[in-house]
Amino acid sequence: MRSAIITDIHGNLEALNAVLDDIEEAGVDRIVCLGDIVGYGADPQACVEVISGLVDKGAICIRGNHDDAVAAGVSGMSESAAKAMSWTQGQLDSTARTFLARLPIAEMDGDVLFVHASANDPQSWNYMLDPSDAFASWAATDARLTFCGHTHVPALFHTLSGALYTGKTLTFRPQPDVEVPLAPIRRYLAVIGSVGQPRDGNPSACWGLYDSDKSTLAWMRVPYDIDAAADKIKAAGLPDRLWMRLKAGK
Ligand code: ZN
Repeated sequence: MRSAIITDIHGNLEALNAVLDDIEEAGVDRIVCLGDIVGYGADPQACVEVISGLVDKGAICIRGNHDDAVAAGVSGMSESAAKAMSWTQGQLDSTARTFLARLPIAEMDGDVLFVHASANDPQSWNYMLDPSDAFASWAATDARLTFCGHTHVPALFHTLSGALYTGKTLTFRPQPDVEVPLAPIRRYLAVIGSVGQPRDGNPSACWGLYDSDKSTLAWMRVPYDIDAAADKIKAAGLPDRLWMRLKAGK
């Protein structure tokens, strides 16, 4: 089965549409969204409508911390994130709010876990930045392969599984559009980069292509109309940092 994994859309409709076009061209069996549909960007309502339409057609969607903050409030958020969230709350209709509030926090599918931040205490919204973070997540799940987002920086953490486990965790930095083979004797934590606000220095939108038959994963990158998305953020009066970082990709 070929799965398209998308995450951290953050109200960026231009990036979302470009990624969905790329996914359609690639041809997949299903789409999985790891959350943060809203927050930061200028089209939260439209992005929720697109994703809820995909869910109606069978897509899986997980709740992110920004989706959660629509109902739960902005405590723990940075100043620009909190400002954007206050604005976002005013943009969403009741159908969109209900959709976000009802999203699951995690979903298991065989030996694969889908979650926004991490398997360990998922609503603490931990950032998977280094091997010790990945280790804490693995300790909280039986899943061989965990998919998450949240950091907006593509990464693949891996370790030997079961009796082969040595305590050593390796970090792999994926190159754009390059298929990475996943070995059956290893456990993985795959951080998929952001659709709508990349932070790895590459401003192109990111999505993950997971082929469970071939056991491969690729971090695909898609150029999109960054100027259009940035202009909408400016026009909405949101903090300058939010459109500037789209252009820098960090
Ligand atoms: Zn995010």
